[in-house]
Amino acid sequence: MTTRRAAALERPLEDDPLLAGITLADLALIRRMPKAELHLHLDGSLRPTTALELARARGVDDGLDVEGMAERLVAPERCLHQADLLRAFDLPIAILQDAEALERATHELVEDVATDGTRYAEIRWGPGLHLQRGLSLRDGIAAVVAGVRSGTALVSAEGPPPIVIRLIAVALRSHDPAFNEAVARAAADAIADGVTGFDLAGPEATFPDPLLHADAYAVARGAGLGITVHAGEWGGAAQVRRALALEPWRIAHGAPAADDPALMAELVARSITLDLCPTSSLQADLCPTLADHPLPRIVRAGVPATLSTDDRTVSALTLTQEYARVRATLGLTMAELWHLDRHALEVAFLHDDEATRAGLIAEFDAFAAPEPALAGGG
Ligand SMILES: [Zn+2]
Repeated sequence: MTTRRAAALERPLEDDPLLAGITLADLALIRRMPKAELHLHLDGSLRPTTALELARARGVDDGLDVEGMAERLVAPERCLHQADLLRAFDLPIAILQDAEALERATHELVEDVATDGTRYAEIRWGPGLHLQRGLSLRDGIAAVVAGVRSGTALVSAEGPPPIVIRLIAVALRSHDPAFNEAVARAAADAIADGVTGFDLAGPEATFPDPLLHADAYAVARGAGLGITVHAGEWGGAAQVRRALALEPWRIAHGAPAADDPALMAELVARSITLDLCPTSSLQADLCPTLADHPLPRIVRAGVPATLSTDDRTVSALTLTQEYARVRATLGLTMAELWHLDRHALEVAFLHDDEATRAGLIAEFDAFAAPEPALAGGG
């Protein structure tokens, strides 16, 4: 029997209750739009069939069938808080403890985002979470890099231009600061392989102070990695403000900043982008309904922002669906949505290859030129 949460993975877009009222024309345009996604976690985006196959081969399947696996990987639509939501990652982490599993999961995620019309994606993962069965940081990173290469080659074989992927290494709030320095060094060693960003994530309520990891950030910054940090999944605007001390280029989430006009003004003045994920924030109980998400206030205050899924499987969500939900439920215009999409390219961690960034922006602009609905988004 297919359970309710697992069923959301298979549900046609037209049956999503959060899309009630969207016009067919808008939905069609969102589907066709080339998209860029900056906030996407590898371990939250496993295909249930693959997860089951990998789990069985590694003896960590708990006797699940594919529906049971899907139910385990998709978090409840409403969790009690962030820590509750994070439980959906336990089994993926248990599965992804060797190079083969990491490479395959990454390869398939590249395929999945390409199928959704994504032309540029940053995939992030915590290299330090995948060492339980003897993998080294270096070999774990190499496996993810290999998955990007093979996935990109496969989807690009169907015709140019190739999808572009960059990687963000995530340090964990719950990990020892000295260990996170080692993660930053290993990530820095892989810049030439496409690891271009450094992030901090994990249980924010238990480990609220990001500055404990300032030394790891210093290593990352010194090496030329793009700097981002998860903030505001717990603790409101004060936690977003706290993250600014790390001088991030971008912030993952950060939506509670909307409650603090002075903080919003500072984000504008410092050109710090919020990589927002409204559905994921709703799941983590940061707003009562999706319609209450502060994205429109953030956008209309001029705060730089982008739109992402956070986790395709944990949230049973595609990027097309998230754009459509924001259009249908939060009332952003198509032009405002397009502005978020194009802005993602402007702040992407593509500083290793500005020619590629310029090429993607030219491609997006060429798409938008004959589409009057996309004009005027600022
Ligand atoms: Zn995230």
